[in-house]
Amino acid sequence: MNLPTPRPPGLCEGCAHRRIVRTPRSEFLLCERSKHDPAYVRYPRLPVLACPGFEPGGQTGTPDQGDPDRGSRG
Ligand code: SF4
Repeated sequence: MNLPTPRPPGLCEGCAHRRIVRTPRSEFLLCERSKHDPAYVRYPRLPVLACPGFEPGGQTGTPDQGDPDRGSRG
């Protein structure tokens, strides 16, 4: 039996606007541009092969735990 492999992120992998969000069950790639520009979706469909918003500078650090834009506030 083969397990599903994660989708390659394409351009987002090296983009300064990507952020990795990890939940207990999964991991998502969040586009920070979506916060200020409705032309971008919060969680782009991967792999992204072309994007006018791409800017080099992606980091390969520790993923964030959860999405601070969702859930409780206060
Ligand atoms: S701006 Fe484009 S390439 Fe960069 S994270 Fe968003 S969707 Fe991906």
